[in-house]
Amino acid sequence: MVGRLAPSPTGIMHWGNASTALMAWLQVRSQAGTLLLRIEDLDPQRSKPEFAEGWRRDLAWLGLEWDREVPQQSLRGASYQEALEKLQAKNLVFACQCTRRDMDEAVTAPQGPRADSYPGTCSDGRWPLGGPGARRLRYADNAVVLRRADGAWAYQLAVVVDDFDQGVSHIMRGRDLATSQAVQDFMHRELGNPQAPEVALAPLWMGADGHRLSKRHGSVGIRSSGLEAAQALGLLAQGLGLRDRPDACSPTELIDDWRARGPASLAKGEVAAANILPLQL
Ligand SMILES: [Zn+2]
Repeated sequence: MVGRLAPSPTGIMHWGNASTALMAWLQVRSQAGTLLLRIEDLDPQRSKPEFAEGWRRDLAWLGLEWDREVPQQSLRGASYQEALEKLQAKNLVFACQCTRRDMDEAVTAPQGPRADSYPGTCSDGRWPLGGPGARRLRYADNAVVLRRADGAWAYQLAVVVDDFDQGVSHIMRGRDLATSQAVQDFMHRELGNPQAPEVALAPLWMGADGHRLSKRHGSVGIRSSGLEAAQALGLLAQGLGLRDRPDACSPTELIDDWRARGPASLAKGEVAAANILPLQL
């Protein structure tokens, strides 16, 4: 099996994404698989090399060692272009020149337009594929962005192409990304991958306000807690239900706990961070 750690270098490691990384590590290490590190720096505005470096440092600090780092996404444009052309040749791509405002006006959903909703305006092929605009995937009732109008590659395409090219067989991702799986499976099939990766969903760490742990809760960085790595791992293990008590431990010591309780921790939808962490949330 091949798994991956796939941090976005748009911020620091916090308790929530450290928890997902620990689960990805345990899943692979409990089966003697190979673990890749892939820096997902697609967002040209928010990605920073110093955050990528921080992630490498913090993963190593926790003891979540990887076997090999694969090229970061910002270097993989040629492969994404090739995949886009493959999908284009199957008539699965159209050019879209809608602005955000056009889409907001065309979509009238009860709770207002969702970020990913698209009214289908340009799916009749009104714009040439060689011209300007975003590239969208024809997919069920929706249309997924593959490349933005400014030329930036979209996450959904990049992650599928990377997982396919890098032989990833198992994905661990936060439960908030559950809805991505169907369209990603579709793209794997259309790009010729006979076996789309198996996806497991990690529970989300929630603040007392019912929102996923994030910067709005203040200082949620795992390093800024001032704890030792072994103490932080103990708290992560307790939060995930791998252990009853937050005793300091190493990731390797958690492998047996993972074998025994991994399925139960995966079945957990959420972790109430305030019950576990020494933070003011
Ligand atoms: Zn459009």
